[in-house]
Amino acid sequence: MADRLARMLTADGTIRGVAVVTTTLCDDARVRHGTFPTATAALGRALTSALLLAATGKRDERLSLEFAGNGPLRGILAEATPEGTARGFAYRPKTDVPPRNGKLDVGGALGAGQLCVMRVPLEGGAMYRSIVPLVSGEIGIDIATYLTQSAQIPSAVGVGVLVGSDGGVMAAGGYLLQGMPGAEPEALDRLTTRIEQAPSPSELVRTGHGPVEILGLLLAEHPARVLEERDVRFECRCSPAKVRGAIIAMGTGEIAALLDEGKPAEATCEFCNTAYAVEEPELRALLDSLVEPGHGSDA
Ligand SMILES: [Zn+2]
Repeated sequence: MADRLARMLTADGTIRGVAVVTTTLCDDARVRHGTFPTATAALGRALTSALLLAATGKRDERLSLEFAGNGPLRGILAEATPEGTARGFAYRPKTDVPPRNGKLDVGGALGAGQLCVMRVPLEGGAMYRSIVPLVSGEIGIDIATYLTQSAQIPSAVGVGVLVGSDGGVMAAGGYLLQGMPGAEPEALDRLTTRIEQAPSPSELVRTGHGPVEILGLLLAEHPARVLEERDVRFECRCSPAKVRGAIIAMGTGEIAALLDEGKPAEATCEFCNTAYAVEEPELRALLDSLVEPGHGSDA
């Protein structure tokens, strides 16, 4: 089952849904960061949630979720765009705690703390930011509570990551269902019952359900149409050019010191764990470009 996202709306316009399959994306995140199983599940659930929320936002904004807790994992940062890209990391990727009730104990790993939701316009402008206490630290319930109580949109969220005995991600995905203005409370109650009786998101993905099938199963009694389908993937915005910019920002003194020590300038992107090294010739060229004499002096 390929990583893919779908958005649907019921024919009467009262319920909207987003579902996503993120198996490859979550395993990509695991490999990049070397996460242990509990951290793999926590990061995967957060990345999946970020994609679901980003799909309900504006076209030109980035969605950011920061979970901070007092448990051994400490926190997770996950970002997603409406284009279906996501990136993120766990503060302590080597976190693994004993299972609880036969499941990976993400809530225990995260502990008590808070969730910060940010919508950041890509072209500048006012940023939306909301901070709420964590309900359980299990991610899905925290997002649903934030949406229902803070954003005042009745919402159900399910996110899940199935980690295999070898530590790899076997299946991952999630869904978000929201009652829109005009939705009947009874219809939302029946939907809630249906969600409670349905298999978990990772089980739905494991048994071959794509995002449209997941929404079709949950919205069973409501005729609905697909508004959009798109691929999703782990993708970072870091680049060698941005690393050069960061080195320039260090200033000429620091760059000269590195050259004196004969060391390359090294930087690792925390979002994707890509390591960058700028070697001596390029470092010297950067330094020369910064200390060029007569720069603007005749203006
Ligand atoms: Zn990166």
